[in-house]
Amino acid sequence: MSLKTFFGGIHPKYAKELTAASPIEILSAPETVVVPMLQHIGAPAVPTVKRGDEVLAGQVIGEASQPISAPVHSPVSGKVVAVTDQPHVNGRSVLSVVIENDGQNKWVDLEPHYDPVQLDRGAILDKIRAAGIVGMGGAGFPTAAKLSPPKDAVIDVLIINGSECEPYLTSDHRLMLEYAGDLILGAKLLAKACGAKKIVIGVEDNKLDSVAELKKHAGAIEIVLLDTKYPQGGEKQLIAAITGREVPSNGLPFQAGVIVQNAATAVAVAQAVRDGKPLVDRIVTVTGSAINEPRNFLVPIGTPIKHLVEAAGGFKEEPGKVLVGGPMMGLAQHGLEAPVTKTVNGILALSKAEAVVPEPMPCIKCARCVDVCPAYLLPLRLEAFGMHEMWDEAKEYGAMDCIECGCCTYICPSKRPLLQYIRVAKNQIVAASRKRTS
Ligand code: SF4
Ligand code: SF4
Repeated sequence: MSLKTFFGGIHPKYAKELTAASPIEILSAPETVVVPMLQHIGAPAVPTVKRGDEVLAGQVIGEASQPISAPVHSPVSGKVVAVTDQPHVNGRSVLSVVIENDGQNKWVDLEPHYDPVQLDRGAILDKIRAAGIVGMGGAGFPTAAKLSPPKDAVIDVLIINGSECEPYLTSDHRLMLEYAGDLILGAKLLAKACGAKKIVIGVEDNKLDSVAELKKHAGAIEIVLLDTKYPQGGEKQLIAAITGREVPSNGLPFQAGVIVQNAATAVAVAQAVRDGKPLVDRIVTVTGSAINEPRNFLVPIGTPIKHLVEAAGGFKEEPGKVLVGGPMMGLAQHGLEAPVTKTVNGILALSKAEAVVPEPMPCIKCARCVDVCPAYLLPLRLEAFGMHEMWDEAKEYGAMDCIECGCCTYICPSKRPLLQYIRVAKNQIVAASRKRTS
C-alpha cells in the first residue's frame, strides 16, 4: 500500500510508545459521577431528573433540546444528589447531573437488534440519535445531524478516521485493535445512514497492527494507509489525502460528497444499533512524563479526571501542565475535578520542564509557518492582523479557514504565539458577524 497524505503538516515527537502496547482496562465507576448536559456542539441537553431521583444505568437524564443537540444518559445506577453547575473540561461551569453510584450497575432494558444492517436508514438514524452519539474524536458534533446533510447533497464516500495523529494518544489505536469487528459494523451502519456507497478507513502507518486486525473483518471496505504526519486527522486533510477532493473555503465535507466519522464513533454506533446501548463510556489514554503508569482505560462518562490519574498510579512529579486531549489541540486544565465527557480521548500530564513557554522573539520572515500550514494560510500575516486588531484584513486573508492545528506555532523558530493571535481574530470575526445578524 502506498502512503497518502496532505499539504503541509509537521512531525512532532509522538511519544505513543508510552501506551501503544497497553490493552484497554475497564475502570469501574467512582462513588460519584458528574454528567454534564453539554458534551457536544450545539444546545445543551435539558435535565429530565431532579435531586432525589433514583436512576438506572442507560437511563436518559438529559434530553436534546434542539435539532443540533444530543441526549445524555446515566452511566451508573444510583441516586441523583444534585443538578447544578460543575467544573467542565472546557474551563467553564456547566449544568451537570451528579449521581451517587449505588454499585449495583442496574440497567434499563436495552433493545438489541440481531441483524442491524437490515434496518432502514431512518431506523438507524433514530437509534444513533436516541443513544446520544456525538463525534468522539474531539469535535462532538451530534452524529445523527452530521449524517443528515441538506437534501440536495450527494454523499458517495464515508471516511472512518483512524489516523489518531495527535501525539501521545493511543485510545483509537487500541480501539481499532480490540474492537475491529464493532468498528467495521459501525462503518457499514454509518454508510447506510448517509447513503455512501464507498467506505474507506484511513489509518496512519504507525498503527500497522490495527490495520492487520481491521483487514480481518473489512470485507469490501477499503483501508488506506496514511503517512504519519500531524494533522492527518483533520477532516479537510483526511479528505484531501484519501479522495484528492477539496472542501471549499469555509465549507463542510458534505460539499465534497464526503462524511467523516471518527473510529470511536463508529464503534459507539455499532453498540447502539446492535445492542441498544447508549453512549455512557469511552476509551481514554492517560499518559505523559508526569504520570507514573501511563495506560488506556474504558471509563464511564462522568468519571472525574482525578480518578483516572489515580488509576494510572498518580503523578510521578508535580506536573507542569495537565491537558485533556493531546499536546497540539488539548485543553489545559486548572484542576482535576472536571469529568470525562463523550469527547475526552486523553489526559496528558507534562513535566514542568516540558511545560515551559518560551519567550517570543521577533519574526525573522523564514516562512516556515507558511510551509507547514495545511490550510494554505499565511500565519505570520494573520498573527500581525490579530495583534493589531485588524479583523477585516484577518477575514480577507482566510482566518476562518484556520483549523487551529498549531503547526505554525510549533515550527516557528522565533516561538511566536501565532495560533493564539489567530484565535483572537477568529473570535472577533465571529462576534462581528453575530452582531450583524442579531
Ligand atoms: S494558521 Fe491555523 S491552520 Fe495554519 S498552521 Fe497555523 S493553526 Fe494550523
Ligand atoms: S515561522 Fe515564525 S519566524 Fe518564521 S516567518 Fe513564521 S512567524 Fe516568522
